[in-house]
Amino acid sequence: MAETLYRKYRPQCFSDVAEQEHVLRTIQQQLAKNTVAHAYLFSGPRGTGKTTIARLLAKALNCENRKAGESEPCNTCSACTDFASGRFMSCIEIDAASQTGVDNVRDNIIENARFAPSRGSFKVFILDEVHMLSGSSFNALLKTLEEPPAHAIFILATTELHKIPATIASRCQRFEFHRVPPVVMIPRLKKISEAEGFTIEDDVLAQIARLSEGCLRDAESLLGQVLALGEKNVTLAVASLVLPMTNIAVVTDIVDAVAANDAQTALKIVGTFVADGGSIKHLIEELLEYVRTAMFAAFGDTTMDAYDAKTIERVKAAGSMLGVSRSQMLLDALLSARTRSSLPAIPQIPLEIAILDACEKKTTIVSAPVVAHSAPKPSVSTPSVPPSRIVEEPATPDEPIRYDFAPIQQMESVAADQSVGSAEAPIFPLEEIVNKWERCIAIIAEDNVALPLVLRGAIPAKVEGSVVTLSCAYAFHADALKEAKAKKLVEDAIEKILQQRVSIVSVYVPVKETSDAVTDFVSQLGGSLT
Ligand SMILES: [Zn+2]
Repeated sequence: MAETLYRKYRPQCFSDVAEQEHVLRTIQQQLAKNTVAHAYLFSGPRGTGKTTIARLLAKALNCENRKAGESEPCNTCSACTDFASGRFMSCIEIDAASQTGVDNVRDNIIENARFAPSRGSFKVFILDEVHMLSGSSFNALLKTLEEPPAHAIFILATTELHKIPATIASRCQRFEFHRVPPVVMIPRLKKISEAEGFTIEDDVLAQIARLSEGCLRDAESLLGQVLALGEKNVTLAVASLVLPMTNIAVVTDIVDAVAANDAQTALKIVGTFVADGGSIKHLIEELLEYVRTAMFAAFGDTTMDAYDAKTIERVKAAGSMLGVSRSQMLLDALLSARTRSSLPAIPQIPLEIAILDACEKKTTIVSAPVVAHSAPKPSVSTPSVPPSRIVEEPATPDEPIRYDFAPIQQMESVAADQSVGSAEAPIFPLEEIVNKWERCIAIIAEDNVALPLVLRGAIPAKVEGSVVTLSCAYAFHADALKEAKAKKLVEDAIEKILQQRVSIVSVYVPVKETSDAVTDFVSQLGGSLT
């Protein structure tokens, strides 16, 4: 049933085609005015109607009843009916992926094109996945495209436009096909379901549209699987038996927790998700989509038809709690988590850091009781650089948290200024703290889950007087360590181990793009690169 729906409901005339209006308008006009080109290049994602429109063009060109000024095939003449049953010999479909060689191209296309069609006015060659042709095949084809026989039409279709030689592309009229948006896809799926005698919840259709990512063929295939369950009334619960699992419940819970600055809950959800065998990569993708929608919702944009009604309510709520700037910051953190999620031995670490980064830090990083302001503060002399974001009163949701990551130069200038102000003899050698760094982290780990994650990405780089500079591989690590309570926890731990009261300063020193640096970082995280 999965594939049959797609075949069964394949549009039989241009007016049945759901999408690609820009393509249809031009092609129908050309048919009506009899100005059809000899070569077309259709490019765009799979399942967006390239072959469908190519076939309709071939059918309309050969329809015996089509009059001047018309573009639609009649679907009743013998050419049209032969076409429908696949017996029309003057439309030649070639899967270029399986016929890449120049001999095939010569025999099946170039030679064949020289002879007039036995039936109909035009021989139409539809070359699917045309980017798979070899260089010499393209060369051979080029000559035919330069001087095509009057009766031959070539329609080249590809999902990878960049692989088509410029010489070929320039001989063709080019059309770019777009992904089919949910607003077009959902009514079409609904129509098919009704025609098949099913009632189907809108939430199910929205879920199918979301899963298929603009590919109508995938959407109709998923719909086929859902209908094949045999339930005449398809609810979300029924559909979930066959629809690929989405993590939307996990996603909404995480974002709600982050919006409420409840990092502990968010981290716990991630932990359970991983323990249950969930894929962090997919989760990050879904979080990205959800937070992006929340950001648009915060702007007042409510076109979010890819979610079901209940989720739309939650995404709106999340949008108004997060606000635009925090959504943007969370997206930024998630994007960097995505690029790094394949690196560490524990793949959820980047996501955990992203969550911590997005939550109000003082409510999350520290769980041990602390005495405020007992630590000596390093003096920062540059007035243009904010010393650190120490906020005493809790942030309210409507008060967006500002994440002004200082650019590298600024970070470095902070470090430079501090080194000028405190060029004293170190109270202990650097090696001593480097050697005992792991023990410091272990002490902190006794009553804090989050901070050790940050500290594993940082190393003591300098001791001047009683100031210890920590070099952080990521700006947001450096940022996290500027937080008063985090700072104090680290300083307390160092005091416990080295019996000296110090003040820590964190600077962001980007990891060099060398394999050594990456390996070092990974081994710090307790993993290895294979
Ligand atoms: Zn016809």
